[in-house]
Amino acid sequence: MLKYGSRGSEAVDLKRELNRLGFGLNNAPRIGLAAMFAIKKFQNENNLIADGEVDGITVKEIRSKLYAQNKAPVIAPELDNVISFPQPAEEVEAEPFKDYPRGKHFTYWDFINPDDIYTVENGIPEEYWGNIQEVIDRLDKVQDFYPENKLIIRSGFRSEEYNKAIRGASDSQHLYGKAMDIYFVNRIINTYTLARELMRGELKGLFTGYGLGSNTNLHVDIRENKAFWWYKFKSWDQWKHYQNR
Ligand SMILES: [Zn+2]
Repeated sequence: MLKYGSRGSEAVDLKRELNRLGFGLNNAPRIGLAAMFAIKKFQNENNLIADGEVDGITVKEIRSKLYAQNKAPVIAPELDNVISFPQPAEEVEAEPFKDYPRGKHFTYWDFINPDDIYTVENGIPEEYWGNIQEVIDRLDKVQDFYPENKLIIRSGFRSEEYNKAIRGASDSQHLYGKAMDIYFVNRIINTYTLARELMRGELKGLFTGYGLGSNTNLHVDIRENKAFWWYKFKSWDQWKHYQNR
C-alpha cells in the first residue's frame, strides 16, 4: 500500500498515472504532501474513502479513469504491486505527524482541503489547532455512533485566500478550524437524518452551529452561540455560494 512517506519506483509510477489524470505532481520517488493530497482529492471525487492510502480499490479506480479517457497506465504490472508494497519501518516518516491534532478516526490532515493551495503549502496556523482538536474529538463520537458508515469530511479549515476565492461567508467558522462540512460515504445515511440525530437525538450537544439544505453535506461547527440555518438558493450561483458558507 502506498501512502504518505512511501518511497520507491512505485511512488513515481503512481504519480505519473495521477498526472495523466490532470494532477501536476513532481517525479520524486516519494509520496509527499502534494501527492497525498492528490490521492485524497481523487478518492473524494470518486466516492472512495479519502484516506490518502492507495489500496487495490484506489488503483482500480485510477485505472478505470485512465481507460475511460483513452489514456494508458504507466507501467501496469509494476504498479499492481502497490497493493502489497512492502513498507520498511525506517522509511516511514512518523515524526512530522507527532504533535498534530488527531483522534481515533480523524486527524489534522482531514482539515486540509486539497483545493486550498495556501493551506496545503503553509499548513494550518497553530493558533487554530486547539479548535481542530476539539472538532476532531466531537467528530470521533459521531463516527463511533455510526460504526458501519464512514464519515467523509468535505471541507474543514479554510485560509482567508481560499475562503474569498470560493465566496465563503466573511466570518465563516471554517477560518478558525471550528467547522466541518460532512457527509457519509456513498451517502447511505442522508444529511437530514444525521442532522436530526445531532440536534435532537443521542448525539445532541456535540455542536452549536448547523447548516442544512441539501443532501450534499452538512455543516457543523463549535461556535460560541447556537446557530441553525437552511441554505436557501434561487440560482445556481447562489447555491454554490451557500455550499461554501
Ligand atoms: Zn461549512
